[in-house]
Formats: sequence, structure tokens, C-alpha cells
Amino acid sequence: MVNLDLTGKKALVMGVANKRSLGWAIASELIDAGAELAFTYQGERLKGTLEKLTADLPNCRLYDCDVTDDAQIAAVFDDLGQHWDGIDALVHAIAFAPREALDGRYVDTTRSDWLTALEISAFSLVAVARAAEPLFNEGAGVVTLTYHASEKVVPKYNVMAIAKSALEGSVRYLAYELGAKGVRVNAISAGPMRTIAARSIPGFTEMYKAFERSAPLRRNVTHEDVGKLGLFLLSPWSASTTGEVVYTDSGYNVMGMHLVEE
Ligand code: NAD
Repeated sequence: MVNLDLTGKKALVMGVANKRSLGWAIASELIDAGAELAFTYQGERLKGTLEKLTADLPNCRLYDCDVTDDAQIAAVFDDLGQHWDGIDALVHAIAFAPREALDGRYVDTTRSDWLTALEISAFSLVAVARAAEPLFNEGAGVVTLTYHASEKVVPKYNVMAIAKSALEGSVRYLAYELGAKGVRVNAISAGPMRTIAARSIPGFTEMYKAFERSAPLRRNVTHEDVGKLGLFLLSPWSASTTGEVVYTDSGYNVMGMHLVEE
């Protein structure tokens, strides 16, 4: 197999909480391809995990960055601007919705929970893309993570589904605007995967099992699947692909009816 070589390329990954995070799945592939990495984490409690994961990486930079804080976002890109000759890849793997908003009915979502979910899970991509814009090198790529509930009803996904719709819309608008500078913006729509964020989705375990039985490939998605697609979308191999939502879901989304085979 011919390997992708991203030696000398600079990649910022936002949203790694542990080694099961989808952000880490993509980061691992970027590392294997030779890229130089920087990471942001949300608050001191996650710093130790990231320090351990990245201990062997040369020149790896770590930044505390809560995406609800414009000053923290600005500080990350100010510092990267001083140490890097631009950004070639940006991974946005961040989402959050208050648990109460996922437990009940969507119609009962409070104003505050709705705004929180949309701010952290969708607006943050806009905020980060704006801050990164002056640093993007020609041909740079941005990848975010989304889920099929943006298009079709997945009970209990509630406000997170609406946040994913806004995120996917943002991908298209950002692709249009940043495309003028040769920057590409895409989303990976992944099937259900066992991560910390997934634990807050009520009924996730049942969804995970049902998915495996009814998806065309009859298997769940692996971290490697997501990582390799991320690498592809951040590399010159996808040079004319932008504004897309690319599925890695064992084909689940193409079905009009799901028969669960025993
Ligand atoms: P994860 O919990 O490992 O990652 C979520 C990350 O979001 C964490 O690192 C967390 O610290 C970060 N985050 C939350 N609020 C933040 C804030 N205010 N500021 C900065 N960071 C914040 O879970 P994951 O499943 O790897 O999630 C990554 C992305 O993948 C999310 O967008 C998620 O919706 C998406 N996704 C997940 C699945 C799945 O089944 N796990 C499927 C499709 C898409």
C-alpha cells in the first residue's frame, strides 16, 4: 500500500478527551503520516490524559481551550502563529449537550440547553475557522465530526441532532468562503462509536447493537475507519472535495428500511 506522507505539515486537533475519542483516531493517522501535531483540551482535568497520549511526540504543543471562550481560542492561534509556518490541517471533534436535553422530548428543550448545545457543537466550528483563517496554508483542510441524526430523526438525539444540522450547514458555507483561499472544509458522518460523548446519548448501547445487525456491512465502525477517512480528507488525495458530509457508517444511511436479521 502507498502511504500518505504529510511530513512537515502542521495539524491542530481539538477535542481529544482520551484514546477512544474520534479526534484521537484522526490524530493517530496524522502522526503516522508524519505530520507535526498540536492539541487543545477542555480544562485542566483533561490535560494529564493528553500529556500521556502525546508524551512521545516531538514538538507537540498542548493548549487549554474551552470553545465558549473567545479569548482562549484567540490565544491558541496567536501562539501557533508564532511557532508554526501556518496550519495545514484542523480537526474539530467537539460536541456537548446537557444530559437533560437528551433525556426528554425535543419539544421540551429549554432555551438555555438549546443555546449551549448549538454554541459548543456548531458555532465553535465557525469561531475556530475564523481564528485559524489567517494561518491556513494553501491547500489546508478542516474536518469536523457529525452524525446522521442531522438529516433523519434518531429518537433522543434531540438538540444534538439540530446542532449537527447547523454544523453541516456551516461546513458548506465555510467551504464556500474559505475555498477562495484554497482551504477545504468537510465533515465525517460516523456511525455510533463507544466514546465519552456517546455515553450521554440515552439508549446508545441498544443503538450500537441494532446498527451492527442492520447496516449493509453488518458491522460497527472502527476508530481506524474514522481515522483513515480523516487523514484522506486532510490530505492532497481529496484535493477537489470540499463542503461534503462523507459517511463512514457501514452503509447504514443508504437504507430506507432497516430489517434486523436474527
Ligand atoms: P469525546 O467525548 O471523546 O469527545 C468530545 C470532545 O468535546 C471532548 O474532548 C470534550 O472535551 C470536547 N468538548 C466538549 N465541550 C467542549 C468545550 N466547551 N470546549 C472545548 N472542548 C469541548 O467523544 P467523541 O465521540 O469522540 O466526539 C467527537 C465528535 O464526534 C463529536 O462532535 C461527536 O458528536 C462526533 N460523533 C461521535 C459519534 C459517536 O458515536 N461517538 C458518532 C458521530 C459523530
